[in-house]
Amino acid sequence: MNHLITPLRVAIVGAGPSGIYAAQALLDEAPRRGLPTPAIDLYDQLPAPFGLVRYGVAPDHSSIKAIASTLARTLEHPAVRFVGSLRLGSSQLQRPQMQRAYHAVIYTTGCSGETTLGIPGEALGGVWSSRQFVSWYNSHPDSPSISLGQARSAAVIGLGNVALDVARLLLSDAERLRATDLSEPVLHELTHHQIRDVWLIGRRGPQHAAFTTKELRELLHLPGVQVDVQPSEVLELAGDPTWDRRVSGNVAALSGVGASPRSTNPPPQPRARLHCVFFHRPVHLQGSHSGVVGLQVERTQLDPSGTLVGTGQLLHVPAQLVVSAVGYRGLPLVDLPFDERTGTLRHEQGRVGPGEYVAGWAKRGAHGVVGTNKSDACATVSTLLDDLASTDLPTPEPGLADQLAQQGTTYADWQRLDAAERALGASRGCQRVTLPGPEQRREARSAA
Ligand code: NAP
Repeated sequence: MNHLITPLRVAIVGAGPSGIYAAQALLDEAPRRGLPTPAIDLYDQLPAPFGLVRYGVAPDHSSIKAIASTLARTLEHPAVRFVGSLRLGSSQLQRPQMQRAYHAVIYTTGCSGETTLGIPGEALGGVWSSRQFVSWYNSHPDSPSISLGQARSAAVIGLGNVALDVARLLLSDAERLRATDLSEPVLHELTHHQIRDVWLIGRRGPQHAAFTTKELRELLHLPGVQVDVQPSEVLELAGDPTWDRRVSGNVAALSGVGASPRSTNPPPQPRARLHCVFFHRPVHLQGSHSGVVGLQVERTQLDPSGTLVGTGQLLHVPAQLVVSAVGYRGLPLVDLPFDERTGTLRHEQGRVGPGEYVAGWAKRGAHGVVGTNKSDACATVSTLLDDLASTDLPTPEPGLADQLAQQGTTYADWQRLDAAERALGASRGCQRVTLPGPEQRREARSAA
């Protein structure tokens, strides 16, 4: 088929940032190569687009969430059709059908699994993975319903940005939270809980943390929160010339806390306390019939080869809520080739096989900020368009793409939900309030 005359038909599975960036890259790059504008169908299992921007980014990070309005411009392009509420692998949407309906399919389904701690007690009530906890506070339709109950102390395990998000939301005051897009039930839970102590627990030191300095500073300077860091854990760290800006910034931010006697600008009567515990790894989550009551953590150190080893010194951390924020993991997607070790689809420069491609976290794992997916999507699209020049792709079955797409919800359906959420936001004095349940979302979508 001559693609100089017939536009390329491409399906993208996953309408998060990676999928939308891939669509934009196709729209930009095809004309540059003298090709007509491709026809793009962007599928998502949910009725709402934007993936992690809507369901992963913390509600109080409105500037990151605002990326959605840029992404929306791609979805509104006349060559792009958003198809919501259709899951690849369901009876309505099978991989062989997609292959027959399109010249090429790009998978941008992200990482919907989680890394586990692999220690006793992980199944206790009150122990959540960050994937579950983040889905809950962002009102993902498949999230568990989480009650913070009578918990007075919470432990967050991991030193990544997600751990900081979780700790910050637990420590934020009501005024701060009300300005976000949190749904009403989640807002109620986060403003009425009894948690006064949050333990941030890392198995290595501040110099090894994965989080970024801006996010760390934001947590350390929450109003009314006293921050405790063992001074020895940061003050003894001499600046290392091999540290990059981020690591130096992190150590400096924590040293600022460690330098003052165990706290930074301690509020006269702190509303809550953040305890930063480095070089400790969880070994046992302890519980009773009512759920988790605490965890045992073991002091660690790095041996001369740089390997993390336990010292046998144990510390008890009381916690009736534990969130393990130790990373996301990709899951196998239908019968596509999958690398169990990395939790990603097997690919070569983004090519999974003839006519099938991957971009985003499903390609490279759960690393990088939202913007990292842009260059990644461009690279995959480049591979796709290069292939086009050297491969004779089969002609899609006429009408099949339309048949598949017509089973899903539309961009207009999403716009009605969007309008309903904005209207709710206006009544709370913020930009948007997420509608919590599938029923409420259905109602808003079908409202005239
Ligand atoms: P992450 O950045 O990979 O951090 C995971 C943390 O968990 C690391 O500190 C890691 O420690 C620790 N860990 C892993 N296994 C552990 C175990 N068995 N026991 C104890 N600790 C363990 O993952 P993430 O926080 O989920 O973030 C995922 C991606 O999303 C990152 O690229 C992040 O930057 C991005 N993100 C960005 C933002 C933002 O920009 N505001 C917000 C949220 C997420 P080791 O280093 O010792 O392995």
